[in-house]
Amino acid sequence: EGQITADDIDQLTEHFPLCMRHLHKKLREDKHLKHYGRMQYNLFLKGVGLSLEEALRFWRMSFSETNDDQFQKKAYAYNIRHNYGMEGKRTNYSPLNCMRIITNNQPGEGDHHGCPFRHFSEANLSHTLHNAGVTDKVQIRQIIDYVKGHHYNIACTRFFELTHGGSKEQGMMAAINHPNEFFEKSYQSSQ
Ligand code: SF4
Repeated sequence: EGQITADDIDQLTEHFPLCMRHLHKKLREDKHLKHYGRMQYNLFLKGVGLSLEEALRFWRMSFSETNDDQFQKKAYAYNIRHNYGMEGKRTNYSPLNCMRIITNNQPGEGDHHGCPFRHFSEANLSHTLHNAGVTDKVQIRQIIDYVKGHHYNIACTRFFELTHGGSKEQGMMAAINHPNEFFEKSYQSSQ
């Protein structure tokens, strides 16, 4: 199995949880992401298997309207290397788990980090679920009900079940607590 490269990411997004698909979509639309979005997404991609070199290439290509000088000056490259433990205190940071994404650094205006189950409006979440392939109104309602009960991980797990093999049965799998766990389960099921 070959190394994952920057060029593979667009294709792999079909295995990403909604939080990371949203960041990827916004990165492609805006050719930019704000600080916490970059951190959340970069650490996730590191967990997916992107090397530091490929991560730098991915971000440099994605910020296509930012010139090289700005890319360095605004410390984008520094922060990417920092996430990989190559700068500052040289801590090798782990990808963020759902708990941290849901509870820390609440997204504000213009931010795209966070968890769609926790941070999207009901209308936006319904629309996003529909676009992601959950078209049955009863199933969307069920996910929204989990969200209303603050069971974000169960909502996300249900989304996984409904979009992987069409499992009608619920509770067949353990709740997903980490975006990289979502990715790995999805990727493995496709191999
Ligand atoms: Fe991402 Fe976790 Fe939210 Fe699912 S529950 S969308 S994996 S943060």
